[in-house]
Amino acid sequence: MVRSENMTTRNIRAAVLRKKGGPLKIERLSMEGPQDTEMLVRTVASGVCHTDISMVQHWETDDGPLVLGHEGAGIVELIGKKVKTIRPGDHVVLSYQSCGICRRCKNGRPTKCRRFYELNFGFHRLDGSNALKPSGVRGHFFGQSSFSSHILATERNMVKVSKKLPLKILAPLGCGIQTGAGTVMNTLQVQKGESIAIFGTGAVGLAAIMAARIVRAHPIIGVDINPSRLKLALEMGATHVINSRRADVASGINKISAGGVDYVLEITGTPRMLQLAVKVLKKRGTAAFFTGDGVPDFVPKGKKAVAVIEGDSVPQLFIPKLIKLYQSGKFPFDRLLKFYDFKDINRAMKDSRNGKTIKPVLCIGNKKG
Ligand SMILES: [Zn+2]
Ligand SMILES: [Zn+2]
Repeated sequence: MVRSENMTTRNIRAAVLRKKGGPLKIERLSMEGPQDTEMLVRTVASGVCHTDISMVQHWETDDGPLVLGHEGAGIVELIGKKVKTIRPGDHVVLSYQSCGICRRCKNGRPTKCRRFYELNFGFHRLDGSNALKPSGVRGHFFGQSSFSSHILATERNMVKVSKKLPLKILAPLGCGIQTGAGTVMNTLQVQKGESIAIFGTGAVGLAAIMAARIVRAHPIIGVDINPSRLKLALEMGATHVINSRRADVASGINKISAGGVDYVLEITGTPRMLQLAVKVLKKRGTAAFFTGDGVPDFVPKGKKAVAVIEGDSVPQLFIPKLIKLYQSGKFPFDRLLKFYDFKDINRAMKDSRNGKTIKPVLCIGNKKG
């Protein structure tokens, strides 16, 4: 078995953000590792998530160069001395990082990890080190930095998957897709016959719509400004759609649901939709908001607002569940994907930003997997 005896340094290729707003440039960097609890993964593909795009737009140049990417998938090449459950050659999908030590992690709630923010947005390992230090660049975004030919990850943020399925299809399960489906199935635990509206029918919203169909919610109302996405929402399980540019959302939802919905997922992050999400809820209804977008200042008595991280998913449990649903034809998330060469990463981000592509996936390694 190939275990890494000592930390070594290798050359990798990674897309580096050096300037606010981009573009990302593919550069050669040195990477140290793996540490005892890490695996070195040869990247096959990585999804591009909304969070990567907003980092490019908001990161300040003075804060130093970064490698982004947090929906990686690949093949394990080397394992550290303390790795127990993963072997070289395993196919893996990567997800968010958690400490594994705090009480919330120990209780099986890693999205509530006390060190969640630091481990996913801090650009360093659990021990504070940074494998890309020799190049003066920071990595470990979500414990990954998957816009790279190689990734260092741990058993905490790694899910072993079947070698029969293409890794380039499975890659985006690690963040956006699990967030949408997990919000419906884990956070809100939507039941048969309950009503739900989804504001924003991008990758997260469409995954939520598919999950709502699986749990037999009714009605399932998709709201967006993009007619082609609304058409797709209907194909993926929405029973009704509303174009919020052309129609009044509140009265539309009221009419369809006879007085309000049990749940709203507010994914657009726009102030108008934030307020509307609470308004269209029925009494005792719950609106889910996503990290970074904030929650409304005022929530009327009897209604609830929750801030959701990663759909409260435990990746090692939830990603295999989603893969099974995909294989049975109930969760056709592959229809949301569009594949790009790694060198076209800036075009992939642009297409996602302007709504042309729902979920870009970068093909990074060789074609195997
Ligand atoms: Zn923790
Ligand atoms: Zn993400």
